[in-house]
Amino acid sequence: MAEPAPLAVTGALLDGVEVGLRCEKGEIVALGPGVEPAPGDEAIDAAGAHLVAPLLNAHTHAAMTLFRGYGGDLPLMRWLRELIWPVEARLEPEDVYWGARLACLEMIRTGTACFWDMYWHPGATARAVEDAGLRATIGGPILDAGGGSEGMKETALAYLDELAGTGPLVGSSLAPHAIYTVSEGLLRWTAELAAERSLPVQIHLSETEQEVSECLERHGARPPAYLDRLGMLGERTVLAHGVWLDRSELELIAARGCTVVANPVANMKLAVGGVLPYPAARRAGVRVGLGTDGPGSNDSLDMLADLKVFALSQRHASGDPTVLPAEEAWRVATGAASPLLSRSQRELHGMHGKSVATVVVGGAADFLLLRADSPELGLGDLYSDLVYAASGSVVDTTVVAGRVLMRGGVVEGGEEIVARARERARRLGIDPS
Ligand SMILES: [Zn+2]
Repeated sequence: MAEPAPLAVTGALLDGVEVGLRCEKGEIVALGPGVEPAPGDEAIDAAGAHLVAPLLNAHTHAAMTLFRGYGGDLPLMRWLRELIWPVEARLEPEDVYWGARLACLEMIRTGTACFWDMYWHPGATARAVEDAGLRATIGGPILDAGGGSEGMKETALAYLDELAGTGPLVGSSLAPHAIYTVSEGLLRWTAELAAERSLPVQIHLSETEQEVSECLERHGARPPAYLDRLGMLGERTVLAHGVWLDRSELELIAARGCTVVANPVANMKLAVGGVLPYPAARRAGVRVGLGTDGPGSNDSLDMLADLKVFALSQRHASGDPTVLPAEEAWRVATGAASPLLSRSQRELHGMHGKSVATVVVGGAADFLLLRADSPELGLGDLYSDLVYAASGSVVDTTVVAGRVLMRGGVVEGGEEIVARARERARRLGIDPS
């Protein structure tokens, strides 16, 4: 994609103050009252719209939009064995590309600028992300439950090659699926490779109680201690779910600087019996993000819907309505509560660089304008409205790296993306219509 023209926004409300904003080369270069467009800028009159940071989906499997509504009432293992795995065995890169484009379309419409993804054919997802103009950190799944870890090592290295040629908005990562689908040797190899190449690692962890008891039986340790023994826990590690974690495990995770991603909607849909113990995680100093998980087990990618469930589930589970203030919940959903999530993709390796989670001068030009006439955004506290009243439909304009991806609720080429994704789903035999 060609470099976008400099962009200027006027008449936006930032924390209740009317401001202007200018972006050049993907970065915010001016922000505040009185900032005006320069000659040649693409100009947007925000007309009183709220200016906020975009949302960050810290755990998903984007291309699984193809599986949305497909056998979702079955128990997990029957759903995987009878429906999902047989179709996944037939997936081609073009299926993943259009599934991921469909996901990106929904994310742009509902205000998500960046996501962390684990799925087959990661190069196809990367291409979709680049064509859509979003940011993502992507990893192809590593697993060897059926044996053959040598072949899987080659595949994992090939995934990294697929991702190496992509542009600055796509970062590569390693994505060992889970401790129960990846052997000890392959997990250790993955941890060593991650350290050698300074790569982020994404893994599902402590999602079900069964996973914890099996880990104790097989390895004599609970999941976080087992992963720590293998050298897997560090500042670039993202642990998805974290439902079954006790205080000492949260302290270990905090000490290692890992990020844990809450996936409350997927946890409830799959009935895993709990959610991330956020109050204890915060007390321990754990870095936290929010994810939808894949559209096969949610089924929405609207982060504002999941943000509400996140906040409600924490209040409900703790019996304490003060446990998660709305502004804090919002910060978790934008990635601002994790230094790893809030760095732009190309700078993940060095753990420094431009923030993508806050609207600031010198930060990435990623932001949303929320509809000024939205009935859900009333006169009260904006964060409270965003967490408890809003859905993705309040987003009017989505800007990522200085490029306008949606304006006035319209994403260019949206209809074609929906049609092509449906075509691919039909080809796979998922959608019989
Ligand atoms: Zn997942």
